[in-house]
Amino acid sequence: MIRKAAAYLWRATILRCPVCGKTPIFPPVHRVRRLSDWFTPLDGCPRCGYAFEREPGYFLMAIWAINYGCGSLLGILIYLILEIFHHPSLKMMLIAVLTPVVLFNFLFARHSKAYFIALDHLFDPHRRDGGDDGGNQKIEPDEPEPITGSELPDPTEPCETTHAVR
Ligand SMILES: [Zn+2]
Repeated sequence: MIRKAAAYLWRATILRCPVCGKTPIFPPVHRVRRLSDWFTPLDGCPRCGYAFEREPGYFLMAIWAINYGCGSLLGILIYLILEIFHHPSLKMMLIAVLTPVVLFNFLFARHSKAYFIALDHLFDPHRRDGGDDGGNQKIEPDEPEPITGSELPDPTEPCETTHAVR
């Protein structure tokens, strides 16, 4: 469980699919044309079929709990450090606290969604059900996860044998 959690969280940190760890969850930065491109993940993983957004409003908790939560903690930390060591004026305090928090929330938005996908996949794994609603077919706990492309043996490699050929 801990190894699986670490793998999923690492894949979220590098913004990759939690199942296969290969496909990016978001379009690359050089393809971002609009603000919504920055915040919107791809429909799903073309490699393993994992649906990134299960249903409308799926990322509400990712934004409210993870993104705003981490931003608020950062703001509180900056406020405490400034208040203890510098005692700035109210205007300077607002600028010094709000500027990095707003910037952080913008830059961390993708990661907060990726971490939410990883945690959701860890505690409530699912796979695409063939419909067009994003997929929401639950994987039973005793059912093994589907084998992904990275774990399949390479068909071009010769098979290893334990017996010596004479
Ligand atoms: Zn994948």
